[in-house]
Amino acid sequence: MKTPFHELGLKPEITKAIDALGFEEPSPIQKQAIPALMNGFDIVAQAPTGTGKTAAFAIPIMELIDPTKRTVQALVLAPTRELAVQVAEASHSIGRHCRVNVLPVYGGQAYEHQLRGLRAGAHLVVGTPGRVMDHIRRGTLQLDTVRFVVLDEADEMLDMGFIDDIQLILDQTPPGRQMALFSATMPPRIQALARRYMKSPQTIAVAHEAQDVPLTHQVYYETQQRGKRDALTNILDMQEPHSAIIFCRTRSEAADLASMLQARGYGADAIHGDMSQALRERVLAKFRTNKITLLVATDVAARGLDIPDVSHVINFDIPDDADAYVHRIGRTGRMGRKGEAITLVTPRELRLLRVIEKDIHKKLKPLQLPTYEDVAARRTTSFMEELRKTLRSGTGEPYGLVAAELAQEFSPLQIAAGAIQLAYEATGRPALGAAPPAAESGRMNQAEMTRLVLDAGRRRGVRPGDIIKSVAKDAGIPGSDFGNIDVQDDATFVEVRSTVASKILERAAIVSLRGGEGHLTLARQKSARPASSDRRGQKPRDEKPAAQSKFKKSKTKKSKAQKAKR
Ligand code: ADP
Ligand code: MG
Repeated sequence: MKTPFHELGLKPEITKAIDALGFEEPSPIQKQAIPALMNGFDIVAQAPTGTGKTAAFAIPIMELIDPTKRTVQALVLAPTRELAVQVAEASHSIGRHCRVNVLPVYGGQAYEHQLRGLRAGAHLVVGTPGRVMDHIRRGTLQLDTVRFVVLDEADEMLDMGFIDDIQLILDQTPPGRQMALFSATMPPRIQALARRYMKSPQTIAVAHEAQDVPLTHQVYYETQQRGKRDALTNILDMQEPHSAIIFCRTRSEAADLASMLQARGYGADAIHGDMSQALRERVLAKFRTNKITLLVATDVAARGLDIPDVSHVINFDIPDDADAYVHRIGRTGRMGRKGEAITLVTPRELRLLRVIEKDIHKKLKPLQLPTYEDVAARRTTSFMEELRKTLRSGTGEPYGLVAAELAQEFSPLQIAAGAIQLAYEATGRPALGAAPPAAESGRMNQAEMTRLVLDAGRRRGVRPGDIIKSVAKDAGIPGSDFGNIDVQDDATFVEVRSTVASKILERAAIVSLRGGEGHLTLARQKSARPASSDRRGQKPRDEKPAAQSKFKKSKTKKSKAQKAKR
């Protein structure tokens, strides 16, 4: 089949690979960037997430590389390990018939593996600035044969404090090399970098509005801070997203929220900067293959990740500004698909919402939170739909035998109701027809929650999910009876519904933790605890490192390692 990609005059090896990837036509950024790069120009390209920037530079790189020479001919710098791996994989797919060796190089992976790849003759190196710099210092990577350099997500790299490394790396490349700079935004610092290192670059811009936004339905719900979790689960139950990314402000919030969602029976997992690379990749793989439908993430952890087909982006915490908002919602409505962008806004955050709306030139649509009754009705309908499907496709014979045996004791209606109840309870969601829990009708307040304290915390590796699992099992209560779980260094505060507090203390006071146990007791005075709305200011933010401004002056190995970890 002839596609417009052929009109770009690419090698047959490359069009074959592109056909296999299922790309039908070049995206707007690709239409402009590929010919410019193939004609030898430097380019500065601005386009939002999800518009196909990777192929826009990977295709020209594959055109340029001479696989018969065993030298590094192209270098791509990317802000995070995930992104480096992703760009390397995408480049590899595009160049799969070109006999080009692509090597990702990033912090956190053993040097040995990367050294082997470099010695074996990598043609394209895709790396994070920190690790690329380390290889240059060790003399294991020479850039004097490089003909093409790409800065991908340049704005992010500068935000993360990589400017010095980037300049040192660029200084190592030969003057005659070609260069491309891709960025979602074009602050003056990026323009300065372009002026310094590029030869009369062509500027290519693809507007946000033109690309992403119109296809994405953008709404917000106003909710109190304390009611947010219930608001979220109600929205999830109503919308039943095929796949959603839920953005939180801090790492600990992301981890806690994912545990809460798991405890309430949702397929959710978190990805944040405290997790090892291997673990993050496992979570991402589960999300990509739809084994989990909800990915709870911080901005930094999610940055630039290629996660196709996200039906919903949910801002559990409102982003800091319009740029962050556009970045986040760029994960849905990609490449011409429809998407939903949902933002939860507390009354105090309404002003921030107005600022964001002004900057994106668009008003978000205010919606009423679903009521408990709405959710219950919806859950019943979808449960019945599932059951109908199962019945229509025929139940397995062993189940029939069980039913037949029970029919000697109970009526078919009784058996069915019992089975439905069991199946329903197994989902971990509130029982059908149960009175709305106080929280869900928006009446939850401190008086209805009881605060317990566990004599173990972060130092012993306590995780909210472990506590919920152990306590819920021993006390025989659902995950929805838990409120906020606040893990401190040597203690953990656990909020539970007051109605189940004594049951927990009777039956589940000994909590099994990784490597030992902890003890739950009633916590003292609530007033000892900072109000939850104040916590925002106290928790370390996962966002742009606080060191951003300090960074230039006091860049240490350690702070760099921490950055690379995100
Ligand atoms: P960006 O770097 O701009 O955020 P990516 O390069 O990660 O975007 O691409 C986003 C998604 O779009 C990827 O899944 C990629 O495979 C897909 N994609 C890229 N180019 C095309 C195209 N021409 N047609 C269809 N899908 C494409
Ligand atoms: Mg990209």
